[in-house]
Amino acid sequence: MPLTALPKAGRNADSIKKDLQNFRQADANWRDGRTFSLVFNPGEEAVAIAKHAYCEYFSENALNPSAFPSLRKMEQDCVAMTANLLNGNKKTCGLMTSGGTESLLMAVKSARDWGRAKGITEPNIILPISAHPAFHKAADYFGVEMIVTPVTESGCADINAMRGSINTKTIMLVGSAPSYPHGVVDPIAGIAKLAKDKELLCHVDSCIGGFILPFIEALGRDVPSWDFRVDGVTSISCDLHKYAYAAKGASVLLYSDEKIRRHQYSVYTEWSGGIYASPSVSGTRSGGAIAAAWAVMNFLGYDGYLDITRRTMECVDKIRKAVGAMEDIRIIGDPQSSILALYSEKLCIFTIGDELQSRGWMADRQHMPNSLHLTISQGHAGREQEFIDDLQWALDRTRRAKMREYSQRMQVSASGKLAQWLPDGAISKIQNLFSGKNAPAVPKRSAAVYGMLASIPERGEIKELVKDALDKINSPA
Ligand SMILES: *Cc1c(COP(=O)(O)O)cnc(C)c1O
Repeated sequence: MPLTALPKAGRNADSIKKDLQNFRQADANWRDGRTFSLVFNPGEEAVAIAKHAYCEYFSENALNPSAFPSLRKMEQDCVAMTANLLNGNKKTCGLMTSGGTESLLMAVKSARDWGRAKGITEPNIILPISAHPAFHKAADYFGVEMIVTPVTESGCADINAMRGSINTKTIMLVGSAPSYPHGVVDPIAGIAKLAKDKELLCHVDSCIGGFILPFIEALGRDVPSWDFRVDGVTSISCDLHKYAYAAKGASVLLYSDEKIRRHQYSVYTEWSGGIYASPSVSGTRSGGAIAAAWAVMNFLGYDGYLDITRRTMECVDKIRKAVGAMEDIRIIGDPQSSILALYSEKLCIFTIGDELQSRGWMADRQHMPNSLHLTISQGHAGREQEFIDDLQWALDRTRRAKMREYSQRMQVSASGKLAQWLPDGAISKIQNLFSGKNAPAVPKRSAAVYGMLASIPERGEIKELVKDALDKINSPA
């Protein structure tokens, strides 16, 4: 039952604990290694020390670093350890934020104010279509235009397209290491050189890759240069709550120079409460998240991350090899990292996703092209054979279903997270969108919502539909 008010009298702790247990029944089953992205599980011991640290600093607040020198020390340690891992030098500096989104918001805010100082009042940033949506959130918030460029066949940023988009109002170029959708590292050296030649900033989004690519490289695998060793890179974002296996709420944003970081700060001197200064979006900041990140980084150490990465990449290799031997399915591009996007020319990949989901595997649906997203991490090591068997099973079922030809009936129920939240009437709205004169036919093989959404030309309409869905998610059941 949804609550509509505070309970009049407080409840006893045991009944609350029981509720907390029960609420999770319908949650994604990450403990079995069947959930991709969302949860990064370093194993029991590392989780235990992270939890200990989190609880130890549960109440402390990093809003005021002079009140809690402990947090300031741990934050600076986390920044320094990350900067060292990403080959920063003496001038490299940074800050912690609550996550990748906040890091990207701040990188854009710094760039905007850096541009303003040069007299650019209507700035734009050039980024590939594979760059994370947080850049577009930053555009929404900070009034910076995002100029989106295509990616090449292999899913990598297209430098020529980026070069062609630069104009007098451009302030920054963006590349990802790797991109979230396809796990491929953009040609950072080329992007950074272009930025430097044009006197622009260059941000590398290694939110997901920052704590795995250095170890993949250390294992002797091929990784194109992407970190501070690349001349022209001016900032890098790196989430600790992904492959550093920290508690959620921890990311690092690094700059090549303090002069750029300075543009990130917000200071208000006229408040009756005193002078208020904060480096990032958040005011109050969780001491727990900082302490947990510090603790887990110290617990695992360089060798621990190297071991985890070795196990993770063995799992990735096995899945890649198995997929390579399967018919009608392949991996997009040649990802250097631990992220794979599964693609099928012949079969509906979303139906394959639905079949996998029926066996408990949660893989995100992606489009342009339609694919399934697998972020593989330590929590999946040892589960790869189960996944491979289930993927083969899902392929066979999808193939058989195709041979029977799908009925015209809408296959909506199992098509993933968004579908579940689409409000009543959304499906008919979507269908109506197909009735315009330039509209494509309703996809024949599967009318799964994602497939349909992907082929609707009116992107604005989809935005409104998704906002309807958000309204529904944020209302009581
Ligand atoms: C996860 C991710 C982000 C956003 O990070 P959050 O922690 O989810 O806010 C940004 N960029 C990339 C490449 C990511 O993988």
